[in-house]
Amino acid sequence: MKTATLPEQLIEPVQRFVAKPQKMLIAGKWINAQSGKTFPVFNPATGEAMAEVAEGDQADIDLAVRAARQAFDHGPWRKMTPSDRGKLIWRLADMLESNREEFAQLESLDNGKPLTIARAADIPLAVDLFRYMAGWATKIEGSTIPISVPYLPGAQFLAYTLREPVGVVGQIIPWNFPLLMAAWKLGPALAVGCTVVVKPAEQTPLSALRLGELIMEAGFPEGVVNIVPGYGETAGGALAAHPHVDKVAFTGSTEVGKLIVNAAAGNLKKVTLELGGKSPSVVLPDADLDSGIPGVASAIFFNHGQCCCAGSRLYVEKTIFDKVIAGVADQARQIKLGPGLDPATQMGPLVSDEQQRRVLGYLESGMAEGAEAVTGGKRLGDKGYFVEPTVLVKTHSSMKVIQEEIFGPVVCAEPFTNVEEVIAKANDSIYGLASAIWTQDINKAHRLAAQLRAGTVWINCHNIFDASLPFGGYKQSGWGREMGHEALDLYTEVKSVCAKLS
Ligand code: NAP
Ligand code: MG
Repeated sequence: MKTATLPEQLIEPVQRFVAKPQKMLIAGKWINAQSGKTFPVFNPATGEAMAEVAEGDQADIDLAVRAARQAFDHGPWRKMTPSDRGKLIWRLADMLESNREEFAQLESLDNGKPLTIARAADIPLAVDLFRYMAGWATKIEGSTIPISVPYLPGAQFLAYTLREPVGVVGQIIPWNFPLLMAAWKLGPALAVGCTVVVKPAEQTPLSALRLGELIMEAGFPEGVVNIVPGYGETAGGALAAHPHVDKVAFTGSTEVGKLIVNAAAGNLKKVTLELGGKSPSVVLPDADLDSGIPGVASAIFFNHGQCCCAGSRLYVEKTIFDKVIAGVADQARQIKLGPGLDPATQMGPLVSDEQQRRVLGYLESGMAEGAEAVTGGKRLGDKGYFVEPTVLVKTHSSMKVIQEEIFGPVVCAEPFTNVEEVIAKANDSIYGLASAIWTQDINKAHRLAAQLRAGTVWINCHNIFDASLPFGGYKQSGWGREMGHEALDLYTEVKSVCAKLS
């Protein structure tokens, strides 16, 4: 539609892609919504509508699930050798890599993140994930099991397990890393031989739709990957509840995660959840502050704090508290905010006006409860969804800003006196996604790592991701793991086969 509103520095393929009406991918075809409805996608740097996307709902989800079911039960996909499946996934990775600049621009445009970040992180990590999972396609193995069967003395058996794909998987994707989160979910599902219906976030559907084009071009059989953009309550809800879906994999808020569990109960489909976090950064007095201060600043400000594992609670030993807070505030002030596509931008706008309102609401609540902003604390400008990088002090554990996920560039800092106290504070959360420890003492680091109730503990670093390293949450941060071979297990069923030998 309105190509005039697109930033002019976009390369031609991106201009062309965004300008065309976006359809949904079902059974290998690009089609309109059954209802004929579409929804607008906004440029977060300006707040203007820039693309028009088919709005899927229950009817479209139903069609897509049927296509995925057909492809799983009767299509060529199940007969394809693991080696051929792996080659297809690898080919997709190659195609994504060849089109990396297009994807980086699309992601920056749609989500608002700096182009430099999309180029350095989102796209290469997605490529690498697909390659890692392509390698696993030929290694989905069961085992042989020597059984004893005490009530049949003398009988002999050959018993073994098979790992089979769980079936049709519904995958619901968030907007903070739209392509990468789709890759985290698609990679293992395809490696083990599942078929998939993907529901991208309404705010950021573009890169998943472009990926759908590459998936078809790579040669995946029709119906193996179906992509239905639409709203969470309608399309997402229908997918989570669908009786012919065998598993639902969701990334997003803990609140919606609980709705997914309820919706999935109808046919007791398998569920994996990657949910919110309120991850603590713990700075011990012997930390190397030259790397620690920029480290804990980047832990929260990377991707505008719109990371489920953002280091949003900062606990600093009291003798170095003032120095660290001054340093982090200084880092925050130096961050250059602007449109994601501007090469000088280090932090872009938040993803949506709703998200901006939510973050500003938390800032208001924090101040009302007695917190003070050392820096930041407000909206920036009056166009686009910008929020100043913010450091809050005088926060304590009963405040909403400490208990709830803000999902914006806001860190809450508190001093601590000793390790026992900080362990208790760090673990005092309904979440348990990630955590970080900053110290030069390896003994303290690993002792503390063992006591933090979180799915990831980073030591002297934060936001380190790798396709081979499992990621996921303790407590209300989720069920199951993404990436690594742990993710593959969650897309398979184990079948025990037992033969009596005569
Ligand atoms: P959300 O509602 O949890 O959205 C995540 C995905 O779930 C989107 O695709 C969304 O669809 C879909 N969805 C929403 N309601 C649904 C329902 N009833 N049934 C099935 N699917 C549903 O997150 P949000 O509203 O975008 O953001 C709210 C908060 O969630 C954020 O402030 C942040 O705290 C958290 N969040 C966490 C992560 C994470 O990585 N853990 C990622 C994003 C957000 P649509 O958005 O397309 O309608
Ligand atoms: Mg939503």
